[in-house]
Amino acid sequence: MDKKKIPYKIYLEENEMPAKWYNVRADMKNKPAPLLNPATLKPMTFDELRQVFCDELVQQELDDTTPYFDIPQEIQDFYKMYRPSPLVRAYCLEKELDTPAKIYYKFEGNNTSGSHKLNSAIAQAYYAKKQGLKGVTTETGAGQWGTALSMACSYFKLDCKVFMVKVSYEQKPFRREVMRTYGASVTPSPSETTEVGRRILAAHPGTSGSLGCAISEAVETAMSMDGYRYVLGSVLTQVLLHQSIIGLETKAALDKYDIHPDIIIGCAGGGSNLGGLISPFMGEKLRGEADYRIIAVEPASCPSLTRGRYAYDFCDTGMVCPLAKMYTLGSNFIPSANHAGGLRYHGMSSVVSQLYDDKLLEAISVEQTSVFAAAEQFARVEGILPAPESSHAIRAAIDEALKCKETGEEKTIVFGLTGTGYFDMTAYEKYNNGEMSDYIPTDEELAKEFAKLPKVEA
Ligand SMILES: *Cc1c(COP(=O)(O)O)cnc(C)c1O
Repeated sequence: MDKKKIPYKIYLEENEMPAKWYNVRADMKNKPAPLLNPATLKPMTFDELRQVFCDELVQQELDDTTPYFDIPQEIQDFYKMYRPSPLVRAYCLEKELDTPAKIYYKFEGNNTSGSHKLNSAIAQAYYAKKQGLKGVTTETGAGQWGTALSMACSYFKLDCKVFMVKVSYEQKPFRREVMRTYGASVTPSPSETTEVGRRILAAHPGTSGSLGCAISEAVETAMSMDGYRYVLGSVLTQVLLHQSIIGLETKAALDKYDIHPDIIIGCAGGGSNLGGLISPFMGEKLRGEADYRIIAVEPASCPSLTRGRYAYDFCDTGMVCPLAKMYTLGSNFIPSANHAGGLRYHGMSSVVSQLYDDKLLEAISVEQTSVFAAAEQFARVEGILPAPESSHAIRAAIDEALKCKETGEEKTIVFGLTGTGYFDMTAYEKYNNGEMSDYIPTDEELAKEFAKLPKVEA
């Protein structure tokens, strides 16, 4: 056997970086269901969508046949500031677990925003600039997306207005200040600056806000100002397209050393990092060229794939956004205050939902304390302090590696390490103090939300 010794980190050269994004929808037999206009229940048209979103992004959103999209040179140049991201062989974790499994992770935390979200933020800012817009609006919960977008907007000199869920605005002052450092304006939501915000404040004085409410405020602001559009950091098919850079780089790095993964694992909030990581592998699976086990990992407190309904639902609480067919817990579902802010969304990307419904990927849910146990085990041997969201994937990867230890199988496991956890130390503190708990919704609670789903015939 004269196999190349696999290094701790597989880096691609700049000239080996993908120059095209891959659109997995092109290879899907069952296409994800279209977005619907909530008033007419007809598929959203280009002209309807372009009132809210940038033109070129709407084209990407609606295109489920073109397999590859050129990555504009300006975006490639920006990517080179922090990409290619390393594919790391977790030799130290393997040793710690004493497993015959081979574990790799694709690390997306190597940029100031601390997560993969910058991959799509820079693309969305680019298309807004190209269209001659003045600025964009968005919402942010824990703050990763708002941070990524403010970095992207400052690069292209666009105005950036972020509505930040009030409780996070108050509890995460450092993320807020990173956004302001990059020139964004940050408004705690609900606010007095929008009609929907004023309405919510009147009905619920003292509310600490929610992601769904911040979305409604950001959309209203974009639609009421000349030269502004709304942008979203996950869930949409265009975001999965941009995030395919993660999977394409991963595949290129694995191919360099002739590595064939058996299991691919990603955490799933709105589905963008998972969708991006698995895209090229899923493409091979759909075309019958290769087979992989693919696992989506979600929090037990917000289990949209594992316990949700596959149905049309609103993407936001204010019901201003189009209807999307997805695995959902209902647009009014408010998950318990778990610490993986990026995974607290009621729905799931329509692409990931359709693939899951077609049994092309599996899903599991994991509890918060076991996630933090995995996070600390990982941090202590691999050095990186992982984001709570990413640690869901770590948990699943460790569990799969431990199964290999029992069976003696030498499986190759690849997982997405989406970001770092420096701004999540309150969560780590809770865990270290033994004060962390998890609330798992009951069937009755979920049924109450399912009953409120909009009635849409297929
Ligand atoms: C936002 C976020 C996620 C979850 O979002 P997806 O769209 O499901 O990828 C995961 N990890 C980190 C670090 C995040 O910031």
